[in-house]
Amino acid sequence: MRHNTDVIIIGAGPVGLFAVFELGLLNLQCHLVDNLDKIGGQCSELYPDKPIYDIPSRPKVTGQELTEGLMQQAKPFNPIFHLGQQAEKIEKKNGNFWDLTTSHGTKITAKCIVIAAGAGSFVPRKPPIENIDKFENKNVFFSIKDKSKFKDKKILIAGGGDSALDWTNELSSIAKVTLMHRRKEFRAAPESVSKMQKLEKEKKINFLLGQIVSISETIGEVLEVGYKNENIVSTVKTDFLLPFYGLKMELGPIANWSLNLNENRISVDTEKFETSVPSIFAIGDINYYPGKLKLILSGFHEATLMAQKCFSYCYPDKKNIFRYTTTSKDLHKKLGV
Ligand SMILES: Cc1cc2nc3c(=O)[nH]c(=O)nc-3n(C[C@H](O)[C@H](O)[C@H](O)COP(=O)(O)OP(=O)(O)OC[C@H]3O[C@@H](n4cnc5c(N)ncnc54)[C@H](O)[C@@H]3O)c2cc1C
Repeated sequence: MRHNTDVIIIGAGPVGLFAVFELGLLNLQCHLVDNLDKIGGQCSELYPDKPIYDIPSRPKVTGQELTEGLMQQAKPFNPIFHLGQQAEKIEKKNGNFWDLTTSHGTKITAKCIVIAAGAGSFVPRKPPIENIDKFENKNVFFSIKDKSKFKDKKILIAGGGDSALDWTNELSSIAKVTLMHRRKEFRAAPESVSKMQKLEKEKKINFLLGQIVSISETIGEVLEVGYKNENIVSTVKTDFLLPFYGLKMELGPIANWSLNLNENRISVDTEKFETSVPSIFAIGDINYYPGKLKLILSGFHEATLMAQKCFSYCYPDKKNIFRYTTTSKDLHKKLGV
């Protein structure tokens, strides 16, 4: 699928979302790519219910509430989201356009790229099994997009956090679920743990104590999973293995885009937050400059200045006139107020 827009934003965290608003005020349309299947970056993935106390004029706002507010603010500018896919490759085209390709093969062409990638892509932590990639997206899954795939099947879920427990409880009504964890204590929310323990008591799910050590395929694409508990190795057969060991963050493909880096972050100037490659910008936690603070409000400021420079790339013949949202009739029209 191919798309054309003014600006591609990589990362739909709070800073990427606010960038949609600032770019929108300048008539610039955005497409956003995020490898998570939801919007909000760290705020919605890591601390949706925790209050933040240092967002100007919001004395107390949770990660999820902030995300919802930013979405509402961006709405008049109709951002297009490409979720669940990683920004993988960029190529410079004639006429100073960039072509971005995602892990799903989506292609987006734009004059500017804004990297608002936080600490990098959230990617699943995988069990350290040598041949696990061979089974990925066939009979090993690290996330669930469509649970109907697992109906009436034997499922082995591994892990002790929220995802592992929530999916154990959820899938128990449609599949034969076994949960495996290395100990009897769980990191998941207490309500999810109680629910799982009740299901186990009622024999609606099985629980195994242990850690996965091997995976092999037997007849009929059934997996044989080896697991270890106190030095005893046993095996269990399953149709699907779902290891839910949480997420980690890594810079990923962006590291190969020939941008100047400072350790794992992208070096930018502090006037327009442009990288070492003209028309590619980096804002929010992903960037580096002397004095940088990894705070949401710093990212908002960076997004505002970045947008001014994007305007000059997208409309080289036009002058950008500074206006207040309070008094500009033109901005009111754009905002629908
Ligand atoms: C527990 C906790 C508490 C915090 N409390 C506060 C606080 O009180 N106040 C405060 O100001 N800050 C706080 N922070 C920090 C704040 O969350 C970050 O500063 C903020 O999320 C940065 O926003 P961002 O948009 O730059 O990046 P992120 O929120 O990290 O979003 C980046 C997004 O980019 C995506 N991405 C990365 N690479 C790619 C790629 N190649 N392709 C596609 N998508 C990609 C990621 O999946 C992610 O969704 C806290 C952080 C944590 C973990």
